[in-house]
Amino acid sequence: MTDLHVSFEFFPPKTASMQTRLWAAVEKLAPLAPDFMSVTYGAGGSTRERTHETVSRIIREASLPVAAHLTCVAATKEEVDAVLKAYWKEGVRRIVALRGDPPGGPGERYIPHPGGYANAAELAEGAKKIADFEISVGCYPEKHPDSPSTAADIDMLKRKVDAGATRGITQFFYDNEVYFRYLDRVRAAGIDIPIVPGVMPVTNFAGVRKMADTCGATIPGRLVKLFQNLDNDPTTRQLIAATVAAEQCLALAEQGVKHFHFYTLNRDDLAYALCTMLGVRPKPSSLNAPDAAA
Ligand code: FAD
Repeated sequence: MTDLHVSFEFFPPKTASMQTRLWAAVEKLAPLAPDFMSVTYGAGGSTRERTHETVSRIIREASLPVAAHLTCVAATKEEVDAVLKAYWKEGVRRIVALRGDPPGGPGERYIPHPGGYANAAELAEGAKKIADFEISVGCYPEKHPDSPSTAADIDMLKRKVDAGATRGITQFFYDNEVYFRYLDRVRAAGIDIPIVPGVMPVTNFAGVRKMADTCGATIPGRLVKLFQNLDNDPTTRQLIAATVAAEQCLALAEQGVKHFHFYTLNRDDLAYALCTMLGVRPKPSSLNAPDAAA
């Protein structure tokens, strides 16, 4: 039996067919007994209701802990607190506390809402005042684009930990050395919470390149070459994406990583295969049971 831990991230579906796909993914991945499944919060709070519905459904129908992502964007503290209180009442015990991106998109200057939480550290502190949530926060092996330096970025992570965060989940990265160098700096700064690598398989190279540009992640030249001229060849792209992600995860595990967070994009196939390769196999688990975490 492996001692690895996994978690899976989903986004709230917009349409009935996306809803079907999401639920198929939840059902397929649930028997792997993840530490939690997480549900993102759309830019500017645009998915507030859909995030809430998705979180509630996973709590109601799968016996799994759920972490609800929450941002500070375009909301007063009272509005954010109301969401937190409603979550706690429903049995949500975990949140991923985030500042969020500016309403104009990453790259614009972030201006906090005048009556809102200014950043993820303030949000974490506010959430802890409401209830004893288990709080994860985002962290950035290649630094957040708004940070003047890696040291300032790690200071911000420290503020989030001091405010009550007990887990960092990284932005995606494709060079494991970047993660391990970051981990060294985080530990040297006296931060001892788990820093869980966020794994984003490159199923859609153009999409990942666009995301990487906005969030400051680097795509190594080796990957650019691998995906060259494959825009019209989804089968080969998929096979290469699986191989690259498997190599990355196995190498991380070999170097001692014990928890993997998968950005599933609401698909189960690659995440399931990667878990299988890591030795994470189905455990007896039942959907339609009450939330084990509540
Ligand atoms: P923070 O840690 O609050 O700040 C980011 C950086 O801004 C800091 O490192 C610091 O350099 C600077 N900064 C902020 N405040 C200050 C200050 N007072 N003084 C000095 N510097 C400051 N976005 C969504 O909209 N919805 C999601 O569901 C979502 N999920 C995510 C999950 C993960 C695992 C990750 C890594 C990111 C996610 N994001 C999501 C993206 C995230 O919202 C953006 O990266 C956002 O720009 C920063 O959020 P943060 O919580 O990391 O910000």
